Formats: sequence, structure tokens, C-alpha cells
Amino acid sequence: MIEAHDWNDECGVFGAVGHPRAAELAYLGLYALQHRGQEGAGIISYDGRRYHEHKKLGMVSDIFSASALRKLHGASAIGHTRYSTTGSTILPNVQPLVAKLRQAVVALAHNGNLVDARMARSVLEDGGAIFQTSMDSEVILHLMARSRHPQIERQIGDALDRIHGAYSLLLLVGDTIYAAKDPRAIRPLCLGSLPGGGWVVASETCALDIVDAGFVREVKAGEIVRVRAGEPPRTVRHAPADADATCIFEAIYFSRPDSHLFGRANGASRVALGHRLAAEAPCPGGEVVISVPDSSNAAAQGYAEASGIPFGHGLIRNHYIGRTFIKPTQEIRDLSARIKYNPVRDVVAGRSVVVVDDSIVRGTTVRKLVAMLREAGAREVHFRVSSAPIIAPCYYGIDTPDASELIAAGSDQEAIRKLVGADTLHYLSLAGMQQAIAGERACGFCTACFDGAYPVPIIERTDKKILEMS
Ligand code: SF4
Repeated sequence: MIEAHDWNDECGVFGAVGHPRAAELAYLGLYALQHRGQEGAGIISYDGRRYHEHKKLGMVSDIFSASALRKLHGASAIGHTRYSTTGSTILPNVQPLVAKLRQAVVALAHNGNLVDARMARSVLEDGGAIFQTSMDSEVILHLMARSRHPQIERQIGDALDRIHGAYSLLLLVGDTIYAAKDPRAIRPLCLGSLPGGGWVVASETCALDIVDAGFVREVKAGEIVRVRAGEPPRTVRHAPADADATCIFEAIYFSRPDSHLFGRANGASRVALGHRLAAEAPCPGGEVVISVPDSSNAAAQGYAEASGIPFGHGLIRNHYIGRTFIKPTQEIRDLSARIKYNPVRDVVAGRSVVVVDDSIVRGTTVRKLVAMLREAGAREVHFRVSSAPIIAPCYYGIDTPDASELIAAGSDQEAIRKLVGADTLHYLSLAGMQQAIAGERACGFCTACFDGAYPVPIIERTDKKILEMS
């Protein structure tokens, strides 16, 4: 479980071509990807002559009314739902971004973070470029505009050759979508086929399911795929790619459990993490396994299955806390922990409780949960974490605190146990985590936040504060 504002999701992208109501499919796709970003969303469509755009701050359900969707004509569209890892939460920063290049109008939706955006931006600004937003993504459009190649596909390739970091991109150019991934395939992006013809591209497979599209394949590392009606998706460039380094945290927490990544549903990967955790960190004497809902449910199920300790719903999560939750005054601040989670007394009272959580970031929520469970009568509280200790920040599109705020960056397991007040506390090992997710499959992971081994060298800090200061 990751506290709101501790470790936030990134963005979600969705595109559709060859469907008379492409924007409506994009709307459904963004709904399925809402967990990846709740600050703003937008869709841009193309009707053969003109582009139509609608974007706002807020949640997908609040942004798109029936009348707004009716105006998004056309058989091709891309959409984006945003959590800002670079750039403030202001309307100009809501994607898709649009630019008029020499040959064409291009709309762009980007998931991930570039690691050299500030440098690239200042070089472009020195050359006279005027930026409309404070996002790293805009650099890509400026680099396309500077390409000397007449073909749009070569312009995209030129721009991508000049940037580094994590990007899963959609570019809408008339009735064509170009889908592209960085050479390490850090963020997911998959292709799907619509039952009546037409194609979709999405950050996660759950967005294919919602529009009844069949999974075709993941976009490959370094690949640019042209997706248009009436022809199969075609690779227009396959850049030399290093070994895949797809974010392992997508399977542990970020992506939905019903999305498929690394060859199976993330829910199945999470159950496997729970199995492995039970083998590595058993809890003799434990009487009930509970999860920190909802993200740890599958891991707790796995732990219960493998340990033989029964599973119980010992914590209930309130799903109606919006981003505008106002921190109360000091006198009642402690009570506010209960707004998000409430312990179920009947399940935990008098028992030795094994709490399974998918990760610990700062440790503040864990401390509150342990105290809450004891107040609810738990005799013992044993904490089990279905990932390895997080010791380093992410620079590839996840909003993370500095290393100084990561509890595991400066403390060992015993110190953390004392800080959170649990009777015992154990993390899954890094090797166990990788094996549980990969199984027999060959998977290339980014594990940088667990081991500090960044697959793309960190050239500069590129979070939103830094970009805006510059
Ligand atoms: S650093 Fe961590 S969160 Fe970021 S991409 Fe790598 S594994 Fe994912």
C-alpha cells in the first residue's frame, strides 16, 4: 500500500483508429486507466478534415459530458490521463499536446519521464524555441519540428534519437497513430484489435478489455509502430534496443491486477509474490492474514494460501477520499488516519495478525496501521511486505520522495520494525521478488528503486519542481 502523495502513479495513454466513434472508445479507455492519473485528462480526435479537442483538470468522469464527447468527431483519437511528474497541475499541461509542424498537425500523449529534458529544453530555448508548457513531453514536439526530414516518421525517429529516459508515446497524425517505446521499454504500452476492424493502443490491457479489443502484443523496446485503419500495425522503425528494463513496480502495484504484463495478469504475479513471501518470511503462530486494501489483496491471498493461515478482511478502505481531502487541525489529525482505513474488530481482536502490504515508502501509514490494529484489540501485529525495501527514488515517471524520506534508505529491517511498532517485520528479498514475477519466463526488469541500478543513467533530476525552477 502506498500512501496518497507518497508514491504516485504516472499517466495513462489510449488511442483508437478505424472506428466511427474513436473518441468514445478513448473515453472508455481513459476510464479504465484512471488509476494512473487523476489530475486531468484530454482527448483529441480527427475527422478527416479537422481535429477536435477536449481537455480539463479533474477526473475522467467529470471532464467528459455526453455533449463534449459528441463534438469529438472522427475515426481516430488519442487520450491521456495525467498525474504530473513534470509540470504543474494547470490546464496547459494537460495532454494530449498539439503542435502544427511543417507538414502536419501532431497531437502527443506521453507516459514516462525523460532524464535529460531540462538540458534538451534549454538547448532548444537558446535556439529560439518558445515552450507552452512546463512538461518534459513538449521537448519531443520541438525536436520533431527541427528535424530536416520531410517524412513524419523520420521526424519522430529523429526526435526520439535525441532524448533519453522513459517514454511510451502516442502521436496522432491525421488518421494515423504512431506508438513508440523507449529503448529499455520502461513503461508498458500494448496493441489491441477491435472486433469490427480498427486498432487500439493502451498503457494497460485492462483498457483493451473495456472496449472489447483483443490483445495483439506489447510495443517493443525502441520500436515505432504505425497504426492506421485497413492495415495491420506496421513497425516503421526498430531502434537498436538494450535489454528490456520494464518497471517491476507496474506488476507489484501500479498497473491494475486485471492487466497483463510479463506474460500474465498482475493479480497472478501478486499472488505469487505472496507465496514467495510466506516461504521466505513465515509467521509461526499467526492466526489471521489481512491485507492493506486494495493493492495488497492478491499478495495477502497468496500469503494465506501458502502459509495455511486463514485470510480475513481486517481493514476496510474508504474509496471516496478525493485529492482535495483537507488535512484537519492538529487536535483531530490522529483521527484522520481512520478516514482511509478502519480495522474490523471482529477479525483482529485477540488474535495474532499478519498484515501483508505491497510496499513501504515513508513508513508513516504503516505506523498508524499498526497502532490502529492494536487499539482494535490485535494481540500481535506482524508486518510482511511483498516487495523488497525501496531505497532509491524513481526518475522514470513515478513521483517519489527523495531518498532521505524513504524509510528503508537509511534503516535496516529491525530499525524499521521498531519505528512502526510491529512485533515482527520482514520484506521479500529482491531475488525472490524477481523470481516470483518472472516465474519461468525471461523478463527484463527495472529494479532501480530497490537496488539503485538505473537502467538509463540519470543525467539530471527531472521532476516538476526542477523543470519549473529552470
Ligand atoms: S525506479 Fe522503480 S518505480 Fe521507477 S521504473 Fe524502475 S522499478 Fe519502476
